[in-house]
Amino acid sequence: MTGSVGMRKLFSSAFKCGASLCLFGWFGCATVREPPPPAYWRELGAAYDQALRQAGEGVFPPSAGAAPEVVVYQGVAEIPADSRFADSLRRGYAVADLPRNTIHLPAWRWRQRADGARSPHRMLLHELAHLHLYRVTVFVLPPALAELAGVERLNTAPWWLHEGWAGYVEVADLVENRLVWPSLNRARARDLRRLMRAGRSLDPARLLTLDSMGKLDGGDYAVAWALVHWILHHPEPRRRDRNRQAWIEYLAACRRGFYPPEADPMAAFAAEFLDCRGSLIEDWRERWQRRLTHESRRAFLALFVAPMEEAEWVELWREEMATMLAE
Ligand SMILES: [Zn+2]
Repeated sequence: MTGSVGMRKLFSSAFKCGASLCLFGWFGCATVREPPPPAYWRELGAAYDQALRQAGEGVFPPSAGAAPEVVVYQGVAEIPADSRFADSLRRGYAVADLPRNTIHLPAWRWRQRADGARSPHRMLLHELAHLHLYRVTVFVLPPALAELAGVERLNTAPWWLHEGWAGYVEVADLVENRLVWPSLNRARARDLRRLMRAGRSLDPARLLTLDSMGKLDGGDYAVAWALVHWILHHPEPRRRDRNRQAWIEYLAACRRGFYPPEADPMAAFAAEFLDCRGSLIEDWRERWQRRLTHESRRAFLALFVAPMEEAEWVELWREEMATMLAE
């Protein structure tokens, strides 16, 4: 899960991008209550590093900034009101607050160290993936424009990319107090096989049109993971290289707010914003979100699918995924 749904995810204020990435340096935490031992965070940082290496050299641009803060909380009241999930305490999910660069983890979940899909280290890796992806794709407005729009940073990475990448990363197993990172998310793969057996038509292209996390079901999480797994681990080396190059270009498109490469993204943003001025800010946000969904889908089809037709690619993707899962 990410810390919000729909438009609220777009707005942030926290960190600066640039400089070089050193995940050991980047990953750290300041906790309140029951601080986990430093060795635990080193293990978690190492597991995330391992996930990045497995994804491929250079598939993420360098980033730096303040370490995320992990807050182990006892009661929902300790979470800022606009970052709360109504049932996050009861269900025990960790929540990543993108703008504040914070992960909230319920204390009872932290105390429960047993391995499994809902173990705290999996959740922390999952939320860490959201924060990291956000930092390397965020659309940063220059100060003058930010003041005008009342927005400093915009989250442009679509939800399938967020949940797909988080699903890719979350799989570390705790073996004798060390995190071991397998290349396949077995839980998601199991979900996917179950969907296939149930005859559900898996349509990765459908995910590209969803603009809100509220529209997701469990199967969508599995398909989002499969999409990212297909991109980064395609069995054919040439296709894999092409996919990884497309991934790099896609992240760059996120940082441009999906404005065309030849355009000055800030000028384009300003023109679009000024065009809407006078209407309610909510209208502008909605319009921007709509454009983002449309453009991010278009970029996906251009980078990962073309020259194939979408329907033809969906068929092929299903076959390829079935093969990949069978291996
Ligand atoms: Zn998530």
